[in-house]
Amino acid sequence: MAPRRKKIYEGKAKILYEGPEPGTLVQYFKDDATAFNAQKKATIEGKGVLNNRLSEYFMTGLTNIGIPNHFIRRLNMREQLIRQVEIVPLEVIVRNFAAGSIAKRLGLEEGTALPRPIVEYSYKNDELGDPLVPEEYIVAFGWANQQDLDDIVSLALRVNDFLSGVFYGVGIKLVDFKIEIGRIWDGDFMRLIVADEISPDSCRLWDVKTGQKLDKDVFRRDLGSLTDAYTEVAKRLGVLPANATNIKPTLIN
Ligand code: UDP
Repeated sequence: MAPRRKKIYEGKAKILYEGPEPGTLVQYFKDDATAFNAQKKATIEGKGVLNNRLSEYFMTGLTNIGIPNHFIRRLNMREQLIRQVEIVPLEVIVRNFAAGSIAKRLGLEEGTALPRPIVEYSYKNDELGDPLVPEEYIVAFGWANQQDLDDIVSLALRVNDFLSGVFYGVGIKLVDFKIEIGRIWDGDFMRLIVADEISPDSCRLWDVKTGQKLDKDVFRRDLGSLTDAYTEVAKRLGVLPANATNIKPTLIN
């Protein structure tokens, strides 16, 4: 089949196509899941459809409270129209509770409350395994300047407060998450906005009562069905009807 439009970029979980107007792109959500820097791979039917809907839900919420982001509108089950940005080559991680790499690095028990939200950065580079980098490196290598970093921290903390509240309202604890930031230009004026996606692929989500994991750790740690976990998140948020059992028939637009 001839491609409908020009592919701009293909990543592990998404594809970006040329958009219908200048300054826009179409973001396509694949069913592919990867972990441990793509050493573990699988295709998980329905994951892309769920993440498209969930990212739409969170980005729309951010827009509604005035946090700028790349989302324009959802086009269909797997695609959304987004603003084209220049991606800052950083993974911006916000942590509320210790888990994953910080727990390992500092010998903290998973689930320990951190004294305050911690923002940290990894350099986006798959070959290097996205190494943790200090602000000093970011500024020295010109990936972002000090003013950008101040803006990024402020965006990240606002997103954290928003997401923590939304999840807590449906009995889910936001342990940590990753966002990516993009630059957009209005003439000579540059702004930083939230880009990429916000979904259970890039968050740690634990049920408040039972501690059950409802995020990509289900895949990383072989804890059961990833689509069941994401479907549960979508149902609690009202993104899917509460009686949805099988995502396939219920998710048609
Ligand atoms: N994360 C992500 N992509 C990455 C690395 C981390 O989305 O390439 C998310 C991850 O899902 C978690 C948070 O960022 O919610 C913190 O991840 P951590 O540094 O603990 O790394 P991990 O243990 O996931 O490798």
